[in-house]
Amino acid sequence: MKIEILAIGSELLTPSFVDTNSLELTRRLNDLGLDVVRKTIVGDEAEEIAACVREAVRRADVLIIMGGLGPTEDDKTREACAAALNRPLLYKAEIYESIRERFLRRGRDLPPSNAKQAFVLEGADILPNPNGTAPGQRLVEGGCEIVLLPGPPKELLPMFEDAVWPRLRARGHGSTGRRVLKITGLGESDVDTRIADLYPPPGPLRLTILSSLGQIELHVTEFSAEKEAALFPKLESLAAKLLDRLGDFVYSAAGEDLETVVGRLLKAGGATLACAESCSGGLLSGRVTSVPGSSAYFKEGFVTYANEAKIRALGVPGDLIASRGAVSGEVAGAMAEGARRAAGADYALAVTGIAGPDGGTPDKPVGLVFTALSWKGGLETHRSIFIGRRDQIRFQAAQKALDILRRRLSRPEGT
Ligand code: ATP
Ligand code: MG
Repeated sequence: MKIEILAIGSELLTPSFVDTNSLELTRRLNDLGLDVVRKTIVGDEAEEIAACVREAVRRADVLIIMGGLGPTEDDKTREACAAALNRPLLYKAEIYESIRERFLRRGRDLPPSNAKQAFVLEGADILPNPNGTAPGQRLVEGGCEIVLLPGPPKELLPMFEDAVWPRLRARGHGSTGRRVLKITGLGESDVDTRIADLYPPPGPLRLTILSSLGQIELHVTEFSAEKEAALFPKLESLAAKLLDRLGDFVYSAAGEDLETVVGRLLKAGGATLACAESCSGGLLSGRVTSVPGSSAYFKEGFVTYANEAKIRALGVPGDLIASRGAVSGEVAGAMAEGARRAAGADYALAVTGIAGPDGGTPDKPVGLVFTALSWKGGLETHRSIFIGRRDQIRFQAAQKALDILRRRLSRPEGT
């Protein structure tokens, strides 16, 4: 089955916007053993859009068109498809009514511009959009099934799940099981060495190694010819082998973020956390609190950039900073202990380092970061040298701090 994606929006042709929708759709299509053969991005220009639609319809069995279904002047998808497919746009009173009701529920009148969203291509089915005003459309032209979906991800993705994916599964030829192992604390070559003999696995298994900042992901998939396979025994057995090789460097075998894993461990132990940050400037606290429900365990974050702030807010001794320097294991430790005391938390993490690009010395180069964890039973500090730009160094520093806590929380009591 030849599937094509056509993303519409001039913003997607600028350096400021990325077409992330097609990545999500591709992932879900791959789950069915379906591949995308071509992706196109086109701006909000009716003739350009129409040309893309005409060409794609000739090639593809399924064409997913997304974006440009909104009410504004630059939303041209409907008109362009009408021109390309030579089908009139028909006014649907029921769509108009449902959009009007949506506005009424928010105490607003329907702006005249939204009326154009009530038009659909002749012969198209309407796909409801519970999260927005623009309905989707589905129609068949020659041998090609065409789906039109709105651009905003929170509207498009649920519509794809409800109205498109199940139909493709019915047409498709199988299903894919997937496991995502996330690893931190090992480099790509270390991971590679540990699992080299398992790679590449025999079909129907696939193993992909994705390396990103401060972490590595192993994606294991197994394709089954059954449409709704519930069990993927080969996949589970390979995942178990990988886990065995990589041990506690794997922080999640279910594709979760490190901050989510740490949050779950804190919650399970009924423990609380505070953070004291210098070079990470709040990134660590930001990541911890990005997890829904983090108020159950996160008590306080201190962004103590200046020495004076470390002394005043955390009680770090001034002479310690003077003798060891603000970027030192001793100061990281004092920051963590001070934060734990000040916040009354069970655990406190601290980060101090040189994020660059300036400020490095031969002794203390850019990328040097000290992280510390204080808890009732003790204190541990770590020295790392991270490579990269300022934002990359800051991310890796926060990643390291979270990982120290994860490891401590994963230990059996008293070890
Ligand atoms: P709206 O009613 O919001 O105008 P629309 O169907 O006209 O919906 P667009 O105007 O094309 O959609 O896009 C609206 C917003 O949706 C964009 O500003 C962008 O934030 C997001 N968006 C659009 N296309 C994509 C895409 N391919 N990937 C990720 N986000 C997208
Ligand atoms: Mg729009």
